[in-house]
Amino acid sequence: MDLYEHQARELFKDHGIPVPDAAVVDHPREARHAAELLGGRVVVKAQVKTGGRGKAGGVRLAADPAAAELATRQMLGMDIKGHTVRRVMLARPVDIDAEFYVSYVLDRAAGRFLAIASSEGGMDIEEVAATRPEAVVRIPVDPAEGVPHAKAAEIAAAAGLPAEAAGTLRGLWQVLVREDALLVEVNPLVRTTDGELLALDGKVTLDDNARFRRSRWGDKHGDPVTDPAADPLEEAAAAKGLTYVKLDGQVGVIGNGAGLVMSTLDVVAGCGARPANFLDIGGGASAQVMADGLDVVLADTDVRSVLVNVFGGITACDAVAEGIVQALDSVRLTKPLVVRLDGNNAAQGRAILDARAHPLVEQVTTMDGAARRAAELATT
Ligand code: GDP
Ligand code: MN
Repeated sequence: MDLYEHQARELFKDHGIPVPDAAVVDHPREARHAAELLGGRVVVKAQVKTGGRGKAGGVRLAADPAAAELATRQMLGMDIKGHTVRRVMLARPVDIDAEFYVSYVLDRAAGRFLAIASSEGGMDIEEVAATRPEAVVRIPVDPAEGVPHAKAAEIAAAAGLPAEAAGTLRGLWQVLVREDALLVEVNPLVRTTDGELLALDGKVTLDDNARFRRSRWGDKHGDPVTDPAADPLEEAAAAKGLTYVKLDGQVGVIGNGAGLVMSTLDVVAGCGARPANFLDIGGGASAQVMADGLDVVLADTDVRSVLVNVFGGITACDAVAEGIVQALDSVRLTKPLVVRLDGNNAAQGRAILDARAHPLVEQVTTMDGAARRAAELATT
């Protein structure tokens, strides 16, 4: 998950990397007030999860609070590379003497990290990297050794950064490790005319696999879990530990295991319908997980039929059937449900659903047959 600049900024601050004073607003009137508190003159910065805001008109200097309000009004709702601006950050402006680039990225193939740094940071870093690759240094970082002072000093010297940048490089490594990030980037890291080093812009990509131990992602840092641009059902599913992805068709798809779910999408498409979404209840799903999953998929208003395709393994089919029955008791089923159970305890599972005899639930024993039936129900 990528963070917004203002969230990255909070993490930098937590780990001792100096950043300009700033405030985040989602209304022009708040911008005027925030600008007053920041001293009047501010940089108004669109909060979108994409770079190149400066060149797209998403970074503007406002001379006073009235100008900050106007710039905020103009920026909110603006589209930057397909991202709608819903929040704006106001930052105390700084006088820049030099702009640098520093980042750590995971190098999966090499099984380590790469420190990337340049003394020519700023908005044209991509061009610098393309036309003069020697101006951008890449130094491998062994994750077990990390970035002690000597390593940080080596990176700074190799890139031609001021010696004090070693402190930033150590802080940034702390952000990467302590916050479970896969990428941390500061561009530009600036030296102000007063000789101070400040992280003026930041990008952080957190490792979604560490979400379970990062409950504070959801609170302290501006609530990335309730990203206003995100699909509310995807959020609801994630909160229950389920993987749900919104698509644009009519058949809701629930399965266990990524492989089976992907095949189910193909088979539905092969039957002339389109999946509305898919939800993976995982390999060891309980009855409760099945019930939660059905809740999510049925809440998708595009869904016209639901296909449940489960091959019982660790999760036995009777547990899945119990989950469906439990869901039928708690949600009012208004859309037809086609269920295919096979594998571990399939007979018991089918018997449980037969006994419940819900008028909107049908069982089909083959995957192809079930997909055909769900497609038919969704398109007629
Ligand atoms: P990006 O275009 O999305 O990477 O947005 P940045 O936050 O990096 O801002 C783009 C450029 O705006 C920076 O490279 C700076 O040159 C400039 N900029 C941003 N904040 C300030 C500031 O406080 N003072 C000055 N002089 N320039 C700024
Ligand atoms: Mn930038």
